[in-house]
Amino acid sequence: MSQPRMSQSLSHPALSAADPELAALVGAEEQLQADTLRLIPSENYVSAAVLEATGTVLQNKYSEGYAGRRYYEGQQNIDQVETLAVERAKAVFGVEHANVQPYSGSPANLAAYLAFAEPGDTVLGMALPMGGHLTHGWGVSATGTWFRGVQYGVRPESALIDFDEVRDLARKERPKIIFCGGTAVPRTIDFAAFGEIAREVDAVLVADIAHIAGLIAGGAHPSPVPHADVISTTTHKTLRGPRGAMLMSRASHAKAVDKAVFPGLQGGPHNHTTAAIAVALREAAAPSFRDYAHAVVANAKALAEALLARGYDLVSGGTDNHLVLIDLTSKEVPGKVAAKALDRAGIVVNYNTVPFDPRKPFDPSGIRIGTPSLTSRGLGTDRMPLVAEWIDRGVQAAAKGDEDALTVIRGEVAELMAAYPAPGLPTA
Ligand SMILES: *Cc1c(COP(=O)(O)O)cnc(C)c1O
Repeated sequence: MSQPRMSQSLSHPALSAADPELAALVGAEEQLQADTLRLIPSENYVSAAVLEATGTVLQNKYSEGYAGRRYYEGQQNIDQVETLAVERAKAVFGVEHANVQPYSGSPANLAAYLAFAEPGDTVLGMALPMGGHLTHGWGVSATGTWFRGVQYGVRPESALIDFDEVRDLARKERPKIIFCGGTAVPRTIDFAAFGEIAREVDAVLVADIAHIAGLIAGGAHPSPVPHADVISTTTHKTLRGPRGAMLMSRASHAKAVDKAVFPGLQGGPHNHTTAAIAVALREAAAPSFRDYAHAVVANAKALAEALLARGYDLVSGGTDNHLVLIDLTSKEVPGKVAAKALDRAGIVVNYNTVPFDPRKPFDPSGIRIGTPSLTSRGLGTDRMPLVAEWIDRGVQAAAKGDEDALTVIRGEVAELMAAYPAPGLPTA
């Protein structure tokens, strides 16, 4: 491991003086994010500009309402900040309406329920163990207890969404809302197919693009815009903005969406976050972001190929996007054991269920990896065979309980990552 970074007091002088204990933790996290290979597909590195925006005095403001119709005075600048974010969202995604106030992806989805369904109504979403999100009507989520969640999955033979099942369930159950999109879906979402089914049964189609928003913005995944009534997204995953969310829609749904977010569900918007969303959207509109989005996918495909060549089973056989789901069953290493070993090797992943997983969700068969973060650091497809080699060596070391091998990998990882400085992190 490299030496602890000495610049922490330089990076955060006020924090270091006022609260050295907390400043040390921030410094340690900076070090960790610098030294490790971060493969969690929902994570990224935001730019220094996005980070700075989140740390501004916009944080000090209350501004319940929307630009031009607030419940507080003193909104001369805040109104312009929010309007910038809204206009940029509309331009980047080509939508008629955008609400940038949801605190995060889960509340954004809850606002969609509030806007378009009553408690007890039926909603159709992808089952969590098949790759869907908790908030798509899964039982342990409020969305699955306050609403009647009906769940679709993937085909056992291909791990692709079973549209016959989606259509049959939609016809039989007549859901008010259909959710598409997920957290562990390595393949292109066919928004047109979902749109056709939703129209047939008169359901509101919510495309939850939390994971792939950056790919859509960069033209590396088809857009849901012509097909979905509402688009929900986080801003902190591939879109590479601050932790936050947006709801976008046709103009005809604008009122319902806005009313649901405020006053339906939330109080004052987080204006510092709104500002950082605006910055991220400006970055996403630049030509270089198209390159980024395509590089994320190229890296994921190259990584998938290198893993296949090493005998790994990948759910659906590969990837179309930023995400690869590895089924470790044939390697005889449980997902959690592998994930924890890889963490000790400086490779950060999460354990994950695979479709039809015979193991339990807290001890599943797979690990989920993705390329948004390493691509933000500038690693290209030429490095993916090495990444696959490290994962392979880490999994083998996990199987044998070989801690020394994990320590060796950790050193190699830190050495390579030092050559790819991460955006937003202080340089040593
Ligand atoms: C991440 C994610 C969410 C939730 O976002 P949070 O900000 O963690 O609440 C919702 N839907 C999908 C598909 C996601 O991947």
